Parts: sequence; C-alpha cells; structure tokens
Amino acid sequence: MSIDVESLYRDLHANPELSFQEHRTAGIVAGHLGDLGLDVQTGIGGTGVVGVLENGPGPTVLLRADMDGLPVLEATGLDYASTATALDSDERQVPVMHACGHDVHVACLIGAVEKLAAELGSWSGTLVALFQPAEEYGNGAQTMVDDGLFAKVPAPDVVLGQHVAPFPAGWLGLHPGVAMASADSLKITLHGSGGHGSRPETTVDPVLLAAATTMRMQGIVSRELAASDQAVLTVGQIHAGTKNNIIAAEATLGLSVRTFDESVRAKMLSSIERVVRGEAMTSGSPREPEIALEEHFPLTVNDPDASARVTTAFAARFGADRLIDPGAVAGSEDVGILATAAGVPLVYWLLGGADPGLIKNFAATGRMPEDVPSNHSPRFAPHIRPTLAVGIDALVAGAMAWLAE
Ligand code: ZN
Ligand code: ZN
Repeated sequence: MSIDVESLYRDLHANPELSFQEHRTAGIVAGHLGDLGLDVQTGIGGTGVVGVLENGPGPTVLLRADMDGLPVLEATGLDYASTATALDSDERQVPVMHACGHDVHVACLIGAVEKLAAELGSWSGTLVALFQPAEEYGNGAQTMVDDGLFAKVPAPDVVLGQHVAPFPAGWLGLHPGVAMASADSLKITLHGSGGHGSRPETTVDPVLLAAATTMRMQGIVSRELAASDQAVLTVGQIHAGTKNNIIAAEATLGLSVRTFDESVRAKMLSSIERVVRGEAMTSGSPREPEIALEEHFPLTVNDPDASARVTTAFAARFGADRLIDPGAVAGSEDVGILATAAGVPLVYWLLGGADPGLIKNFAATGRMPEDVPSNHSPRFAPHIRPTLAVGIDALVAGAMAWLAE
C-alpha cells in the first residue's frame, strides 16, 4: 500500500506545530517510517525522529527534513489552510502556519524513503532519515546532536537536505561553497530613566536612545564594511513605553544580523556593541545596556566535491536545464550542524515551489515578480505539483549518488 504523499502534505499543512512542539508531526513520521520497515527512534532532542534502513555494505547517507511551523496567521486562502493556534515559548497564544514550507520537506522525505525502501536491490549501504525539531530557533539540530544523536544512529558519510524556495516549481538550485548566511539574533536592552511626559528634563528618554541607536547602526554596513563584504543588519523589533504621556524607563531592540564570513561577523558584532554602548553614554543612560545573543545559525557551506556529485545526479535525473545556481542566499539554516558534528560533507539545495508558469520571467531576469510570496509570508503557498514529486526525486537522486556506487 503506497503512501499518498499529497494527502500527507495537506494534512501536515493544515496541522502545523511550533518549534519543539512537533509531537503530532513526529508521531505521523514515526508511523510511516515504521510501516516502511525502518528502525525508528523517537524523542531525540525533544521531538526529533530518526529512521535507519540498513541494506548491506556501503556508505551511510543522512537525509534531513525539519518539522516546525511558525507563529504566522495563514492568509493563503487554500482549502487546506491552517487555523491552528498554540502557546509559544513566552506562553502567548499565537496562530501557527507552515509558512516556511517545512511540511514540504517532511512529505518529500517520507516519499523518498518509500521509494528507496521499495528499491532495495538497486542500492547498498545505510539510509538515515532524520526529522529534526526547531529549525526556526536555530538549535533543533544541535539539540539532537547534544542528545547523543550519533551514538544512537549510524554516523553518516554525507548529509543531504533541501529547502523549498520561491522560484518556479520543477527547478532546483544548488550553490557550492558558502550557500547560506550565518545569522545572529540579538536582544538589546537600553536603560533610561522614566518620568512624566511633560518633564523630559527629569528623565533619560530610552525612546530617543533606541531611535538614535537604530539609525546609527545602519551606518555599520554602509560605512564600516568594505564593498566586497556582505552583511545585513535588520532591527526587527523596538519596544518601549505604555502610554503617550509617560517617558519609559527602558527600551528593547531585536536585531537580525546576516553575514557570509566569520571575520565580517566578528566585525559586525563588535561594531554593534560599540554603537550601542556609545549611544547609551551619549544619552546619559544610568546603566550600561545589555546585549544578549538569543539565536545563532552557522554558515551553511556546501562541500564542493559532494556538490558536484549531486549536481551530476540531478542533471542526469532532471536535465541540466532544470538546475540553477542561486548564489549565496541571505537566509539561514541549522542543517550544517549535523554535518559539522559528524565531520562530513554537506549538500543542501533549494527546491522550487512557486508557479511553474513563472519560469520565463525568472529565466530572463533571474528574479521572481515581487508579488510572489516568500518563505515566512502569510501567503506562502508552494504548488503541490510538481514540487512534491521533484523534491522526492531530488532526495532519491542525491542519496543514490552515494548508495548506488
Ligand atoms: Zn524559516
Ligand atoms: Zn525553513
């Protein structure tokens, strides 16, 4: 009895779960892996699930999917749209949506395992199918590693995975070398001294301090980095105050910093600290500001030799005209932690999920129309066809590049 992967996908999409809360998803995954004859372990790093299929001598290939959704109110209008809500890690009731397409990754990996399990005569080696929690926090993979992942399952010779992205379905994107940015999420607490809105002379206004700090930090990328270096600094959150006629006592900033090089990252972090401390001093803050690193995603680096092997396999399976090199993208991933922990190569590619009819525009300009929703958008809605079929075949072709030797 074969698995209806499209139905599985719609069910996962309609029932997303937040990071480290992927209990239902993990149960469904474990059920399918068990039915397909894999040796299944659950609860690795919280909700992580791993299925192992040993099929004679040969290399061990780890295929990875992430399982978590996001606190986004879905606005796709799909008949399988999510209406789910959940309590987030701050105990707030939030809407939940598979706005990053991790449901695509789960469905495709189940479909790929089914294909590989049905073709045991055509390959030899060990397949490790890994479903991780909490990619969106940047620490789901690390949590599985810290829980003794590679003592519980065979250590791989290569780690492979994919992420659905807003370019036309039917196409795959693979970039050797640094493929995705490193990301740092910082929380900055700025201290003022509160008081009456009519008497600023008795206060240190943290709103002005927050605004000045935000403005000044935008000079770091433009004035302190070389033209050849790349970075993004986004202030995604500013919070202060409760009422128009009260000057608040503190303000917080939430930053996202993307870099493609360790030395640029170090420079960015030290410049941010200098600006934050400098502006606090300029404002006359009564206390030193606090800078907390809340999340860190490492660089995602595709091994050149292993990438060439996957590219050859994709060209043979799909045709070279279906492959694009998207360059290094500013999104971030924690999949590299699995490869780094095992000391083996990583190949992580992008799977087109948008309207395949947009390919002419995309091929001509290298860009998608700006109204095509990106990952994390409330309107992010991958086309089921041919995205799922291509994602399944890409995982199979990538794995077979090692297992069919
Ligand atoms: Zn995401
Ligand atoms: Zn994602």
